[in-house]
Amino acid sequence: MNLPPPFVPPGSVFYGAGVGRGLAIGPVHLVSVGKITHSRHKLTSPAMVEAELARLADARQKTVEKFASAQKAIPAEILLQDGDILGTHLMLLTDPLFFGNVEKKIRDDRFNAEAALVFCCAQSVRAISSISNEYLKSRVFDLETVSNSLVAALQEQEPGRLAVYQEGSVVVARDLSPSEIASLPLGAVSGVVTERGSRTSHSALVAKAIGLPMVVGVPSLLPNLEEGLQLIVDASEGHVIVNPDDDAKNFYLKRRASQDSYIVEINRCAHLPALTLDDHRVAVLGNIELVEELPGIMASGGEGVGLYRTEFMYMSKKDLPGEEELYESYRRVVATAAPRPVVIRTLDLGADKIPSVRVPAPGGGFPENGHQNQALGLRAIRFCLKNPGVFRTQLRAILRASVYGDVSIMLPMISNLDEIRRTKQLLAETLAELRAQNVPLADYVPVGVMIEVPAAAVIVRELAREADFLSIGTNDLIQYSLALDRTNPEVSDLYQPFHPAILRMIKNIIEAGRERGVSVSVCGDMAAEVTCAPVLVGLGADTLSMPSSSIPAIKRLLRMTSYEETKKLTSKILTLSTADEARDQVMSYLGGRFRELLQPLQ
Ligand code: PEP
Ligand code: MG
Repeated sequence: MNLPPPFVPPGSVFYGAGVGRGLAIGPVHLVSVGKITHSRHKLTSPAMVEAELARLADARQKTVEKFASAQKAIPAEILLQDGDILGTHLMLLTDPLFFGNVEKKIRDDRFNAEAALVFCCAQSVRAISSISNEYLKSRVFDLETVSNSLVAALQEQEPGRLAVYQEGSVVVARDLSPSEIASLPLGAVSGVVTERGSRTSHSALVAKAIGLPMVVGVPSLLPNLEEGLQLIVDASEGHVIVNPDDDAKNFYLKRRASQDSYIVEINRCAHLPALTLDDHRVAVLGNIELVEELPGIMASGGEGVGLYRTEFMYMSKKDLPGEEELYESYRRVVATAAPRPVVIRTLDLGADKIPSVRVPAPGGGFPENGHQNQALGLRAIRFCLKNPGVFRTQLRAILRASVYGDVSIMLPMISNLDEIRRTKQLLAETLAELRAQNVPLADYVPVGVMIEVPAAAVIVRELAREADFLSIGTNDLIQYSLALDRTNPEVSDLYQPFHPAILRMIKNIIEAGRERGVSVSVCGDMAAEVTCAPVLVGLGADTLSMPSSSIPAIKRLLRMTSYEETKKLTSKILTLSTADEARDQVMSYLGGRFRELLQPLQ
């Protein structure tokens, strides 16, 4: 992170997390969002229940219309570049599962609509909050936004706020919902700052989508501000300067001019293929956990889904999901992505992905709390093979969805050959069963293996004989190879993608794939890192899969480099004996031409 220039008094600078890369300079516009209260009463007759269900349906319709018109306020080219966040809210508004629960609460427990909504929203939020995943946590805010908007529609309230904006205003609030950001007068507002929020919250993504520079999570800012005071918002660096003098203003105006031209350039390339200067093609795909993330992947130039993590539906509910429910989600992803490919990873429950179901099946459940070493326990494929009923349900759902597009199945945490063979056996039985039931299926569904356990990296040649493709899960490969918990901040400094052991293992995996003629992708976070992607390409990875936010920068980098250069860089760093030396080498390669890409592109 670059600090403000030395002539800016330190007391006038406030730090947070920057969203996107823009810069705003303008007068403060303070926004206070009214809190929505809700009534709560029991329905005493069947007629009241019916009337309440009708009120809910009406509020839902009004809210859909409100979000749809806010969505229209976002210019189409910006939606295309950065994803349709309000589309996600519209999808939540049509979620049959959530509304099925709300309606049940009204019918069975005789709750009024507001109380039923707030109850079901709190239930889902609790389930999501127990998961250690930043993306999913940021979905809490979406859920609350949708629920609040519905309650407001039921009560015909609107959150209140000041309405007169000066030219170039910087909006400052404790927090803002995505639809509140989308409905800001874009012509008048130049930036947004909130005391709360995270970089991956949907409010942040909306601000990015409509091109508003934003800094979130700036504590104690509001007491230092008054309406009309000048503010500089540096979203690239994540800081805010209160009441800047002319020197500071001129400095930031110059910085803004050079950033503007860079942003235009990076997004211009996002929809072009990742073709290096010497015509080497790398496929760049997206990682998703929810169907709602798919529009973002496609809007950022993702060529399909390289990793669909399917744990979420098992982590957010009291009961195991049924085949129909799974099938419906998979079908939506596959059909929406078609003809682009979708790699559906089978259940990877365990370790940091603990399900809300306590004892899911006779084969063994998950420990109640974290004192067992769960990363080495009954995780992923191990759990599935011990619970074939649960596994079979998922396989049936995936196979049924396969007819709607280009589907592959990927197996996580494979550590021996037996696990693949047993899975393929189960898959063959499931296929036969579905065929006997005349269920329409794709002609062939490839089965790939994640290489994320050191043992698998060593026996990769044997595994490659059984698999249609390999995908390197660098997050776990690093965790297990370097013996450090990927969720433990105390050892995060030791989490080294450029450790010689990791680089040599990746090289071995890719060579094995080539020898056996199977493709090798990388779907762990290394693929999304500007520092690592050229090394992975130089090692021979043909596909990189990553979160949508990283796709434009990685594509841009690959289009500006040559395959020959990445190979040279990689051969050089493979001779080095420490991670630091390797990183220095990569930084000096990137530093000259790609300096601007080294800043996070959130
Ligand atoms: C990985 O381990 O790199 C991976 C992609 O899987 P997950 O992060 O879901 O464990
Ligand atoms: Mg993994």
